[in-house]
Amino acid sequence: MDEVKRSSIGRFYKKPLAERQAIAQAWGQLNGDDLQALSDSGLSLAQADLMIENVIGRYSLPIALSTNFLINGRDYLAPMVIEEPSVVAACSYAAKLFREAGGFTASSDESIMIGQIQLLDLPAFESAGALILSRKEQILRAVNERGGSIAARGGGALDLEVRSFPGTLAGDMLVVHLLYDTRDAMGANAINSALEAIAPLIERISGGRVNLRILSNLSDRRLARASGSIPAQALASDRATGEQVVDAIVEAAVFAEIDPYRAATHNKGIMNGIDAVMLATGNDWRAVEAGAHAYAARDGQYRSLTRWRKDDAGNLQGAIEVPLATGIVGGATRVHQGAQVALKLLGVESVRELAEVTAAVGLAQNFAAIRALATDGIQAGHMRLHARQLALAAGGSEADAQLIAQQLIDEDCIRLERAKEIVKERKRES
Ligand code: NDP
Repeated sequence: MDEVKRSSIGRFYKKPLAERQAIAQAWGQLNGDDLQALSDSGLSLAQADLMIENVIGRYSLPIALSTNFLINGRDYLAPMVIEEPSVVAACSYAAKLFREAGGFTASSDESIMIGQIQLLDLPAFESAGALILSRKEQILRAVNERGGSIAARGGGALDLEVRSFPGTLAGDMLVVHLLYDTRDAMGANAINSALEAIAPLIERISGGRVNLRILSNLSDRRLARASGSIPAQALASDRATGEQVVDAIVEAAVFAEIDPYRAATHNKGIMNGIDAVMLATGNDWRAVEAGAHAYAARDGQYRSLTRWRKDDAGNLQGAIEVPLATGIVGGATRVHQGAQVALKLLGVESVRELAEVTAAVGLAQNFAAIRALATDGIQAGHMRLHARQLALAAGGSEADAQLIAQQLIDEDCIRLERAKEIVKERKRES
């Protein structure tokens, strides 16, 4: 078992599916129901019908494990749900290089969410903010007296802030921020309920009119960070020295720091990893996406969420900082059995640990993309893996897909039209 508990599982990608499932079972101590959830969608039709509106069925995506993660000295297999080929392979490869240099160091903030109350029609706009802040204790108490699991676990309302927007198109506007520790939950419902509960009190205190009461997805009090380094020699290839590759990666990173057009694509690569873990664990990946992109533009220009530099010894150093409003309770995390299995596989004991692993996955994914872009280009590797999807899209059977993909690669013609011809030829032959 100790041996299995190392996430550097040799040639995991080469193993048959059943063997990979057996490794997952041992790793996460999965039971029969868990295995069943991995094999079907993890969600019954009846559950799906209760989850959203107007349901007509279920829709599946693959769940995979990214290997090699070593974060704060602990081994992880990262569960990822994604439809795009090459993401998981790239992530595992990147995690291996970081692992060999000691792995990732990660940290995170407490689960502090920001809720917003929009106040208009204030009789005394200039003094309203100070008036509200002077009653802060009363307002916070009004939230925390509502009780519930979050308060019982030491969370709840922590602070109030007031932001002033005079002379807007909608008139003078005051925005009250409620800082709220949501503990193990992502917390959108929890904080929205708290905001709705205290809005009448805020109206009474200020004499104004409350319009919106809603969380902010720019959860910048809830940041997760990961960093790591890779020795230059580990980056050497047939065509370039390690030092050249480090320099090319730093150049690529600077490009994404200064140019929003590049930053958008750079950050999309990061979100390939982050979203995949969020989806696997039943988290609201749109909320995380919104937060990440808003944070990337926090100084007025949209920029990269990561930073890559060469250290004094010439090695590559990478770091990411990103808001990660994640949950291990609430939302779909407890309803979707696939999400429960993903959490078991991760073995995280807290929501902060989930955020830290997710940040490390984002950093690994980003490294893999910019290393490929700054060396061979991504298409060579990507298209080889894409070939299997083309084989399926061309009507090839699951049994034939690998062979058809290999033929496309051997012929150096990874195209749907050619895949269709091969499928036809194989049908004629059989
Ligand atoms: P839930 O309301 O499903 O779960 C949170 C609740 O779980 C808490 O309020 C608490 O309720 C209970 N709970 C039990 N144990 C714990 C614990 N250890 N720590 C914290 N809470 C605990 O979900 P969230 O509030 O997390 O909201 C997430 C959902 O909101 C997602 O589905 C998201 O898609 C959705 N959403 C997102 C929005 C956005 O991002 N803009 C907007 C609106 C909704 P209690 O105290 O009553 O026991």
